[in-house]
Amino acid sequence: MAHPLEIRVVSKRFDDPSAATLKGYLASDGYKALEKALKMKPEAIIEEVKTSALRGRGGAGFPTGLKWSFIPRQSPKPKYVVCNADESEPGTCKDRLIMQFDPFSLLEGMAIAGIAIGAERGFIYVRGEYRYLIDILDRAIAEAYDAGYLGKKLRGTNFHFDLMTHTGAGAYECGEESALLESLEGKRGIPRIKPPFPATSGLYGCPTVINNVETLASVPHIILNGGEWFLKLGLPKAGGVKLTCLSGHVHNPGVYELPLGFPMRRLIEEIGGGVQGGALKAVVPGGSSTPLLNAEEALGVNLDFDSVAKLGSFLGSGGVVVVNDRTCMVKFAKRIIHFYRHESCGWCVPCREGTNWLELTLTRFHLGGGRSEDIDVMFDVAQSILGRTLCALGDAAAMPTISIIQKWRQEFEDHLAGRPCPYEREFAHA
Ligand code: SF4
Repeated sequence: MAHPLEIRVVSKRFDDPSAATLKGYLASDGYKALEKALKMKPEAIIEEVKTSALRGRGGAGFPTGLKWSFIPRQSPKPKYVVCNADESEPGTCKDRLIMQFDPFSLLEGMAIAGIAIGAERGFIYVRGEYRYLIDILDRAIAEAYDAGYLGKKLRGTNFHFDLMTHTGAGAYECGEESALLESLEGKRGIPRIKPPFPATSGLYGCPTVINNVETLASVPHIILNGGEWFLKLGLPKAGGVKLTCLSGHVHNPGVYELPLGFPMRRLIEEIGGGVQGGALKAVVPGGSSTPLLNAEEALGVNLDFDSVAKLGSFLGSGGVVVVNDRTCMVKFAKRIIHFYRHESCGWCVPCREGTNWLELTLTRFHLGGGRSEDIDVMFDVAQSILGRTLCALGDAAAMPTISIIQKWRQEFEDHLAGRPCPYEREFAHA
C-alpha cells in the first residue's frame, strides 16, 4: 500500500501482482513508451531524458541523458546496454522490488536505451544473492521475445535488441561498473584503471552504457509522459521521484517513492513513524558508504543530491538508516568497517591493509583495550585510504569511519574511561 506522501512512478505497479506478466504489464500502459520511442530519433530520446534531469539512482547521481550522449554512435564497434543490478550497498533494497514486481519496466527501459545509443544487445547483471529474481526476469524476457518487444525487428521496425541475464557471485565489488564488466566478461571482478571510461571502452572494449535498475525503469515513464513532466516532480537539477529505503530505528521501515527534495524530517517522523527505542542520534543518508549525519543535520536536510552534499555526505543509493541514541557509535563504526574489510578485493594496499587494521583496532577499542592515541591514529589511517585507492570501495570504507570519529569523538573518549563499552553496559537491561 502506498503511503499518502508517496508519488508512485517506478513503484506504481508494486501492488499489482499481474504486472509481472506481459498481459498485466500491457494492461497498465506497459510498452507504450517503447512503441513511442521506436518512432523517435535516437537523439530525441536522449534529449527527452536530458530534459527530465534524471540522475543515476545507483549512487553516483550522474545525469543519465548526458551519460548516454557520450556513446560514439558512429563507432563501428557494437554498443551495449548493461544494467547494474548488483544491488549490494547495506541499507539499500529497492532495485530488487522493481525486478520482482515490475520486471518489464526494466526490460522496456533497456530496449529504449538501446535505441537511443544504437545498441543491439543488453545484459542485466544481477547480484549473486538475488538468484531468486533471475527466474522472474528470464520469464519476462521470454514473454517479451514472443511478443516482439525483444529480438530482431522490434515490433516490425528495423531496430533489434537482444537481452539476457547474468549472475554475479555475491561480491560487493562487482557493483563498481568496471569490475562488473570484468565479471561479465568471465574474469575476476576487479576494477579497471580509468580512463578509458565505459562509454568508449566498456564491455569487450566496446562503447557501453551502464545504468542502475531504478534509473532504467524510470525511462519508460519519462518517454511516455515527457521529460518536463518527470522534471517537475522533483528539482531543477534532479528531476523526478526516487525510491528511498528507510531502515534502522524507525517504527515503519520500508521502501518509499518520494520526490527529490523531500525533507528527511518528514521521512523519519511522518512516514517512518518516528524514532524507535530512543531519540535520534545519527542518520546514514544514502547507504553504508556515505558519511553519517548527526541528528541536527539530518532533521534539517532535504533528500536531494546537492542538499546532502552540502553537509559533506551523499544521497547515494537511497538507503536511509536511522540510528537512535542507545547505539554505540564505536560499535557502529566497527560493523561498517567489518563489511568493507570483508568485501575489499585486496587489489590496493590502502584498502586491503587499512580496512583490516581499522577493524582490528575498532574491535580492540570497543572491547576495552583502547589507548588514547588510537583515536587519532584511526582517523589518520582512514584519511590515508581516502582518495588513494583504485576504486571507490576504499573511500566507502573510510568516509563513514572519518565522520563517526569527527562527530562522536566523545564516545571514543568514553570508552577509554569506562571499559568495556559504556553504552552497552548502560543499555544492557533497558
Ligand atoms: Fe579492491 Fe579496495 Fe582497491 Fe577497490 S579500493 S580495487 S576494493 S582493494
